[in-house]
Amino acid sequence: MRAPQSRTKGGSDPMSSSEELRKRRGSAVARGVGSVVDAYVDRASGGTLTDVDGREWIDFAAGIAVTNVGNSAPKVVEAVRAQVERFTHTCFMVAPYESYVAVCEQLNVLTPGGFEKRSALFNSGAEAVENAIKIARHATGRPAVVVFDHAYHGRTNLTMALTAKNMPYKHRFGPFAGEVYRVPMSYPLRDGGLDGATAAARSIEMIEKQVGAENVAALLIEPIQGEGGFVVPAEGFLPALREWATAAGAVFVADEIQTGFCRTGDWFACQHEGVEPDLVTLAKGMAGGLPLAAVTGRAELMDAVHVGGLGGTYGGNPVACAAALAAMATMHELDLPAAARRIGAVMGERLRAIAARDPRIAEVRGRGAMLAVEIVRPGGIVPDPVATAALSAACHAAGLLTLTCGTYGNVLRFLPPLVISDGELGRGLDILDAAFG
Ligand SMILES: *Cc1c(COP(=O)(O)O)cnc(C)c1O
Repeated sequence: MRAPQSRTKGGSDPMSSSEELRKRRGSAVARGVGSVVDAYVDRASGGTLTDVDGREWIDFAAGIAVTNVGNSAPKVVEAVRAQVERFTHTCFMVAPYESYVAVCEQLNVLTPGGFEKRSALFNSGAEAVENAIKIARHATGRPAVVVFDHAYHGRTNLTMALTAKNMPYKHRFGPFAGEVYRVPMSYPLRDGGLDGATAAARSIEMIEKQVGAENVAALLIEPIQGEGGFVVPAEGFLPALREWATAAGAVFVADEIQTGFCRTGDWFACQHEGVEPDLVTLAKGMAGGLPLAAVTGRAELMDAVHVGGLGGTYGGNPVACAAALAAMATMHELDLPAAARRIGAVMGERLRAIAARDPRIAEVRGRGAMLAVEIVRPGGIVPDPVATAALSAACHAAGLLTLTCGTYGNVLRFLPPLVISDGELGRGLDILDAAFG
């Protein structure tokens, strides 16, 4: 067989067209790994991706809430370049280095909670969640983990068990890890608008009757659900669960992997209601696009684990740590929580205007630069995943990269980089507006 044709573009990199790459992919990449669009990226910066065919895309995905500081943010590029030249890997468990310590120091200060904290670094969100559960079980000596309807916590065996949705995350991948108990989420559109305290009481009763408070190691929750549909719990839900966990001696773990690092207009979404988690899991937006994750939390829980009990070959890789330090510096420097609030105000107004004329939108929700619309059959709240997919496809055809989510596949979500320009944001919203017709 002939080698795939390639041509040179934008420098010395051999580059194929998306069509050529699609063919190569079909015979090289496992089918189970999907992509939202089949345009292959050549370069990206700020709020724009450019594909190998020279087409520009306005980015309302940020690689799933990862490039909060933008793609190839200048400080990140500089820090990564400098670190790659110094050393690429020693394994922190073999020969430690300063940047790992510095990342932990910063996380301990930035995350909610005025208490003494410790951190440990990992590679992916799922790995951080797994480790938070390990730590909570070890520290409490209890087995049970409580999670919520619509939750998403990852794709490894334990985190599949923690995740709610079968297709595509869990289907035929079991059996799953045990001692995981699912209780109702506060989902105002779909629970009859229960207030936070009532919704929490319903979940707590289920925990106490079906699990037993004294068996609960951890209560794990996304303060705003990500893959599950950008579900924002009613006010008071998170504080009530926090209070219950304290009384029950259970570890309250906030999964801020999607909501963290300025996305919702605060550094972390828990801060909106003044909730202080015992442990927080972090990843996505943390390192400007390099793979890095963390568990940060109460020193007495984190330090309960014996030496050598936590770690991994690549966790806290020095290049990823350098990127994280640069990304966090950029978040401070550009005041990205304020940027997220500004994006949310502009986008929210446009989305509400669309919703006012289009009965397919049951709700506009989210916070900061983490907004979504839930699409239903007009006149009720029956989910309409077909219309959602069509709207998303219309956005893609017009050069706007959007994502869908939700248990029912009927939520269009918007996660622009927090450095997106007003022009890019406006053009993206114009495309979205036009897609609704
Ligand atoms: C993405 C995500 C994860 C999993 O992170 P990976 O890096 O993909 O393993 C876990 N929890 C939440 C809330 C997420 O959004």
